Amino acid sequence: MTVEPTVIEHPSPNHGPRPVGAPIDILLLHYTDMTRAEDALDRMCDPAAQVSAHYLVGEDGRVWRMVAEDRRAWHAGVSWWDGDSDINSRSIGIEISNPGHSHGYRPFPDVQMSALESLCRGILARHPIPANRVLGHSDVSPGRKIDPGHLFDWHWLASRGIGLWPTDPAPATLQPEDIAAALGTIGYRIGGAEMADPAAQSALWAFRRHWCPQSLKHPLDRHVGGVLKAVSAAIKKTRKNRCTLGG
Ligand SMILES: [Zn+2]
Repeated sequence: MTVEPTVIEHPSPNHGPRPVGAPIDILLLHYTDMTRAEDALDRMCDPAAQVSAHYLVGEDGRVWRMVAEDRRAWHAGVSWWDGDSDINSRSIGIEISNPGHSHGYRPFPDVQMSALESLCRGILARHPIPANRVLGHSDVSPGRKIDPGHLFDWHWLASRGIGLWPTDPAPATLQPEDIAAALGTIGYRIGGAEMADPAAQSALWAFRRHWCPQSLKHPLDRHVGGVLKAVSAAIKKTRKNRCTLGG
């Protein structure tokens, strides 16, 4: 049992109401792409910037709350997931301090990951967010965003019960149409696109960044195929269960 981190209140004016009755069922993780957490905090509290998130986690494990969870923070921008384009309305957004690809991307320190873990644990206890909807900005905005990036340890987070990670997937050779179908099942915006389509290629890169980060430098292989198949199968199963439970 993890104790929730001490939260430093640092209110931002950048938020609005959530639509009445909208579920909060996505947890969206970002990196700040700024050298210092304090600079990110300033920016997300500047009315002119028009951006925010609910929380910021510093590299030293400090956690700031900028927007109350029942309010709609402004972090996702143009985005889409599993049929929805208004991700801000149904998500909690966490910015994780990291210089990012703009200022020297580096691993996320253990103390920061531990603080993030306990923050996420509390959020998941308060909202019905399924494992397959714990996502990165790059998942909902492929081709436009790459955060939190390939150094973010989704596997470790999932080992702590946060997010979806397939166990020992068997390698698989997938045809382009199978890849497109699997990406669509997972929630990426594919439409009827073939894999040659730039949007489909962006979705595949986003998938690999999240679930096969070690594969990014290599050609698409049977390992990636196997993980893709396993993640889409796990999500199919989750949806089926949800339908059964929900009637
Ligand atoms: Zn982001």
